[in-house]
Amino acid sequence: MMDRHGADRLDDVLAEAVSGYVAAHPKAQAMQDRAARVMPGGNTRTVLFTAPFPVRVARAEGARITDMDGHDYVDLLGEYSAGIYGHSHPRIKAAISEALETGVNLGASHAREVAFAETVTARFNLDLVRFTNSGTEANMMALSAARCFTGRRRIMPMEGGYHGGTLYFSHGASPVNAPFDCVLGRYNDIEATRALIAQHTDDLAAVILEPMLGGGGCIPAEAGFLSMLREETRARGIVLIFDEVMTSRLHPGGLSARFGIEPDLKTLGKYVGGGMSFGAFGGTREIMALFDPTGPNPLPHAGTFNNNTLTMTAGHAAMTEIFTPEACIALNARGDRLRDRLNDLFMRYQVRMQAKGIGSMMTIHPLGGEITSPQATEHADIRLKRLLFLDLLESGFYMAERGFVALSLMVTDADCDRLVEAVERFVERRRAYLG
Ligand SMILES: *Cc1c(COP(=O)(O)O)cnc(C)c1O
Repeated sequence: MMDRHGADRLDDVLAEAVSGYVAAHPKAQAMQDRAARVMPGGNTRTVLFTAPFPVRVARAEGARITDMDGHDYVDLLGEYSAGIYGHSHPRIKAAISEALETGVNLGASHAREVAFAETVTARFNLDLVRFTNSGTEANMMALSAARCFTGRRRIMPMEGGYHGGTLYFSHGASPVNAPFDCVLGRYNDIEATRALIAQHTDDLAAVILEPMLGGGGCIPAEAGFLSMLREETRARGIVLIFDEVMTSRLHPGGLSARFGIEPDLKTLGKYVGGGMSFGAFGGTREIMALFDPTGPNPLPHAGTFNNNTLTMTAGHAAMTEIFTPEACIALNARGDRLRDRLNDLFMRYQVRMQAKGIGSMMTIHPLGGEITSPQATEHADIRLKRLLFLDLLESGFYMAERGFVALSLMVTDADCDRLVEAVERFVERRRAYLG
């Protein structure tokens, strides 16, 4: 444990790092003032705010971004996993111009949505799929479908789970959540969650979770936890939903395929749309057929941009020609190597830090000990996360302040080598505060 004196010094060290950041980003600071006149806190997406003001990106290409103050960074954030292709990928540019040339905002069904749906259902083992504009919307629709299918009201997300802006369950429910009636399961706690499911069976429509908590710290589910959920939900007529918005990139058929556990519904988002606005929900024919407009009493599913040609075309090109199963395997192997090297480094220096995750997604936690649940990360010192974030920015690496990294296909082994060196410099320089 850090003594009082050490803790005070960490405040000073962080303040110094923040002033260095402020001094190096005068244009971003001026833009923050301008932005704050028209958007609350100058922000239109909470997760991108970092105090005292965020980096403002001027342009990006491949794995590089340049901010308006002229600094270059290797982009390790990869748009929170949606930016898997890197910036301005030539094949995606071509797909978008193709879509523009044949028309956008058609207000009609077309062939591209069919080709894309064929690709997505085959890749992720879905009988039927529906497209949305975001992962949030996909989860809202999947949960609503489960409620209609079962005739039950309540849903079970996990404590610490994230399924979108209106489905966020850290420290209870976010105040802006959709008003679903929720009972919260405990991630990786087999007995407690099994008991909760039994207790609420009569009114429980769905259990929803990520097979690895993505934004929640890259904490993988344990196979036994997922198989318990599969057995209990099947036995009790509850719909099991895997939110694979992030995790589907971790294996050619999604993380459920890697675990060998098939839920009733899966939701997708982020990278699958080729970097355009995207979401999808799909799964068993039995449930998805509720939306069939040729059937009796079909459920409505609206969305002006659900089949927009930019997403349908870019997503199809991206999933068939860029993020092929082979590319997926290679990218995740690169991520595994990087995470192993970081953990070796932390071990060698005997510091309380660790990189959690699977394949190309990881979170660097300023914590020792086993992390198997979101509760285990609650005591992480936010000041250490901010310090790592600022030190890495200074070394030319951009990631999330919370320590989240999602490698894009454009990040090279040489970039990973330089990152390991930069993290080693951080560990040497800040060792006194790392336990
Ligand atoms: C990003 C994310 C969402 C929400 O997707 P949006 O497109 O941002 O609405 C849902 N679930 C998970 C696991 C996510 O990471």
